[in-house]
Amino acid sequence: MSEEEEPDVTVVGGGPAGLNTAIMCATRRLKVLLLERSKIGGFPATLYPNKMIPNYPGFPEGIVGIELVRKWLQHIRFSGVTVKQQTVLSVAKDLTITTNKKEYRSNAVVIATGTRPKQLGIPNESRLSRTGKGVYYFSSHPEEFVGKKVLVVGGGDTAIDAALELLSLADAITLVHRRESFRAFDENVRRVRKSGMVDFILNAEVVAIKGRSRVEKAVIRQEGRRLEKRVDAVIIAVGLVPNDEVFRNLGLKRDKRGFILTDSSQRTSLEGIFAVGDITHVGLRLITVAAAQGAIASHFIHSYVRRPYWARETWPTEI
Ligand SMILES: Cc1cc2nc3c(=O)[nH]c(=O)nc-3n(C[C@H](O)[C@H](O)[C@H](O)COP(=O)(O)OP(=O)(O)OC[C@H]3O[C@@H](n4cnc5c(N)ncnc54)[C@H](O)[C@@H]3O)c2cc1C
Repeated sequence: MSEEEEPDVTVVGGGPAGLNTAIMCATRRLKVLLLERSKIGGFPATLYPNKMIPNYPGFPEGIVGIELVRKWLQHIRFSGVTVKQQTVLSVAKDLTITTNKKEYRSNAVVIATGTRPKQLGIPNESRLSRTGKGVYYFSSHPEEFVGKKVLVVGGGDTAIDAALELLSLADAITLVHRRESFRAFDENVRRVRKSGMVDFILNAEVVAIKGRSRVEKAVIRQEGRRLEKRVDAVIIAVGLVPNDEVFRNLGLKRDKRGFILTDSSQRTSLEGIFAVGDITHVGLRLITVAAAQGAIASHFIHSYVRRPYWARETWPTEI
């Protein structure tokens, strides 16, 4: 696609969902523009580049996040998708996309902006979450925790995985969870418990973080009591929120948590706009699900853009 050409489809977000949609659309000979504001690859590139991904088909021994991203990069280059590093600021109903550099027009738009880790919103969290100050949202670089006293907040897979990963690296691990039971995979909870190396503080909440230039203490509230714990790092793993900045004012139908509703063709409530991956209401957030949604979307985007005689016109979609 040349610089002046209008793309058939513009994909917003270069994580697993956006990448796979772009590749599959290009395979169908559509002109594809992919806009990514940071690193191509999404979470596996930014949040867990060093994690062994255990559940991606074709890699029985697992594949490290960044290795999988490298393979996707080769595939995207090979497929002829035009990739630009730009931040999308808004998508309009007439499908005009405004980025930090320019405006684009295309016949279809795919929203694949994913999610970001939820913040606790407690005192000093934002200030101390800048690089190297001790507040993290995932153990992206486990070596940073060697010999440290680490406090993990949360009871889902991300929190338990972080505790597991740090068992052999950290000096001490405390896990604070606001309930008695865990949402995480049972077997992993059992492994953390069995290690005997994790101090569980349950039915409790972290209410503040203290420290001048780095994390020094976490303030915890448990059943009316307030305790302060000396720690070097806090990993906050309490869920994900949608990256909705680009479509906040668009009027797309969403669920009550803000995730985009789609039909089974990945169409949204607005004509010409599709959504794929973690930004959609589908409860299962996995790379394979994101990739599969991209495959489905590409099929219906092709029908929508090229309008072959067999294609059904189904907008407005019932969702
Ligand atoms: C800690 C953790 C571990 C996980 N481990 C696994 C695992 O082992 N196996 C597995 O299958 N799944 C795992 N997952 C889930 C998996 O990472 C997600 O399901 C997957 O990344 C979703 O892909 P996505 O493309 O929808 O979103 P993302 O990966 O979040 O990508 C979205 C992309 O959109 C970009 N973007 C957002 N807004 C804009 C904008 N305005 N302009 C331009 N670009 C924008 C972002 O920069 C990002 O690159 C894990 C998730 C987490 C949080």
